Amino acid sequence: MEFTLDEMREHLAALEARISEACKIAGRSRDSVKLVWVSKFHPAEAVENAIALGATDFGENRVQEAELKFSEPRTAKDGSRVRCHVIGPVQSNKLKKAAIVADCIHSIASIEAVEKLEKVCAAQGKILDILFQINAGEEETKSGLDVHEAESFLNEIEAKGVAAYPHLRFRGLMTIGKNTGVAEDSRECFAFLRNLQQKFYAKGGVFANFDQLSMGMTGDLEVAIEEGSTMIRVGTALFGERDYSKPVNDPV
Ligand SMILES: *Cc1c(COP(=O)(O)O)cnc(C)c1O
Repeated sequence: MEFTLDEMREHLAALEARISEACKIAGRSRDSVKLVWVSKFHPAEAVENAIALGATDFGENRVQEAELKFSEPRTAKDGSRVRCHVIGPVQSNKLKKAAIVADCIHSIASIEAVEKLEKVCAAQGKILDILFQINAGEEETKSGLDVHEAESFLNEIEAKGVAAYPHLRFRGLMTIGKNTGVAEDSRECFAFLRNLQQKFYAKGGVFANFDQLSMGMTGDLEVAIEEGSTMIRVGTALFGERDYSKPVNDPV
């Protein structure tokens, strides 16, 4: 069962209390952490409720589901346009659709994908924000760049030069913490991500906009905020448990 608007409001208040407390401990302002509402496996009505509660940014794992919910432009409560973040791995043949529906893709992990996105965005006349996913949790099941190849990958991007990617903005790094059920276990990989992001942000040039760290989910957002996250991707704490037996793929 999906949450009612009132239930979602309560969950949002509880989540905001967690975020605020973590920001306080970290000596950061609440404004420095963007909340991305991960609506995957939840229907369009849940998105409507979220928008009514002030959501501006949504995360979807699968391109098709993102298209169903976010192809039509919609307005957030603050008057801005609702933004769609693609946060799951995107197959090469879906990159074009992803680039069209998304304002930001968090899960890019190859030069081939970067090259293809530049072409697609040039054709669309669109500037797209992208983040590089690093497999900092070092688990085989997770996608993203291997920690050992991350730096050479970023060097390769840098070597191509600013002129190579006029339609892409490299915004930073993304990772998924360790899936141990213990938030503290992810601290090291979050810190690794921050160090890598800061090192490349300091270079400027291609990395002039490399100021974002997408890390922290329902289970480990406090640790992520303490380690410098600027975008937390939260699903369960806002929308409740996902029902994986009911994929959202009916037209809305
Ligand atoms: C599903 C998902 C989330 C949200 O996870 P919750 O634990 O439900 O908050 C965040 N990031 C990615 C990449 C996901 O796939």
